[in-house]
Amino acid sequence: MSLSSFVKFLRRSLLLVECRIMQATGLDRHFAPALALQGPNLLEELQHENEQCEEKSLLDSIFWMAAPKKRRTIEVNRCRRRNEKKLIPVKNNIVPCPECGNLKQKHILCGFCYEKVRRETALIRGQIQAMEGGPLKNPAMETVVLYENEKPREADKGKRIVEVKRKRPSWFSQLV
Ligand SMILES: [Zn+2]
Repeated sequence: MSLSSFVKFLRRSLLLVECRIMQATGLDRHFAPALALQGPNLLEELQHENEQCEEKSLLDSIFWMAAPKKRRTIEVNRCRRRNEKKLIPVKNNIVPCPECGNLKQKHILCGFCYEKVRRETALIRGQIQAMEGGPLKNPAMETVVLYENEKPREADKGKRIVEVKRKRPSWFSQLV
């Protein structure tokens, strides 16, 4: 009998004795063991068992996805990717803007012209904010914007007048 098998035998018999003592005294096995042994050879089996358990649980936790059974050729892939249905449709409704000449879609506001209007409006809003000395509020009266060399008309009486010291843009009609 080799030394390791003797130690295992001894351990097993000690555990059995411990178990019997516990049963006889009526103590629960949840308590700490009355007899503790420590040694590299003794814990070998237990460690091995633990490793096996960990491997099993690791494999169980993997979610297996379906994999393609055959390789698709590059021709098939390109036919799918460059299919006519996937291409961006050709637009035939591109026309030059009558105001600025840049290309735009028919029946859609020109982006360049809109940007001009947006910038001019932001300037006027800034001026109104400076006049009122506070954040912009919903005005109680109508507002008239007067550019350089312009005078209020009779219809503009009683309206809020914003005077801008610039030349009126060609697209901004006074009658608006
Ligand atoms: Zn335009």
